[in-house]
Formats: sequence, C-alpha cells, structure tokens
Amino acid sequence: MYKKTKEGIIIGRIGYGEDLLTALLQVAKKENITLAKVEAIGALQRATIFYYHQDIKKYESVRFHEPMEIISLLGNISIKDGEPMVHAHVSLGNSKGELFGGHLASESIVFACEFMIFPLSGVSLERRLDDKTGLFLWDIK
Ligand code: ZN
Repeated sequence: MYKKTKEGIIIGRIGYGEDLLTALLQVAKKENITLAKVEAIGALQRATIFYYHQDIKKYESVRFHEPMEIISLLGNISIKDGEPMVHAHVSLGNSKGELFGGHLASESIVFACEFMIFPLSGVSLERRLDDKTGLFLWDIK
C-alpha cells in the first residue's frame, strides 16, 4: 500500500505479517526503480540481520525471536544482475531499549512499517563482485 507524491517520492505502509525486505523489493520492481534512497521506521515481530565477517568474506545471520522496534532503516535500491536490489541496514531496539543492528535479511516480519522511497534518475549504478571485499559493490570508475 503506497502513494506517490508529485515529486515522485513513494510513501507507504507494509502490512502486518509481510516480509520487510521482500515487500520493499516488490515495490521497487513494480515501479521499475533502478536507483533510489530508502528509509523506514516501524516494528518487527521477529528479525533476521546479517553481519559480514571481513576476514572470511562471509555473512553470518543473527536472529531475534522477539518483537523489535525498527529505530531506523536506511538503504538504497540499485541494479544487480539486471534486477533491482534493495540493500538496507537496520537499527533495531528491544523492550529494554537495547540497540542492535546490521544488514537487513529476509525473514524479518513486519508488525507495522512506514517507508519512503526516493527514486533518483540520470545515473545508472550496477553492482558487480568486488574481489577485495567479496561483496557486490557499485561499479563506479
Ligand atoms: Zn549491507
């Protein structure tokens, strides 16, 4: 569920029980977004984030089986393998006010979420594998 401002900014809500990352990606695909800034706030019923181990170049998942606040989600949309990809990081808060965070992964299930997507134009950025980091980074030269 979302609307578009006259400036083309997409403002919406992700419904209860939806997978946050998947829902954002669906909007990106539907709107043919190739480059954008993404932000969101809200709450998750449970969450999965990734931590990237730089030494072994591998993601490790961290799961939270408890309701968490989305203190902030900040990310972007760009192209990887010809398709839009959402890259987002989240800060999550628990009932004690403790803060955790990382790279947003699927299996983060929404309780309530408000998001904004700011599409950008005039530049195309594609992700390619970067040997040094093992990550798919923007190919900017
Ligand atoms: Zn990341």
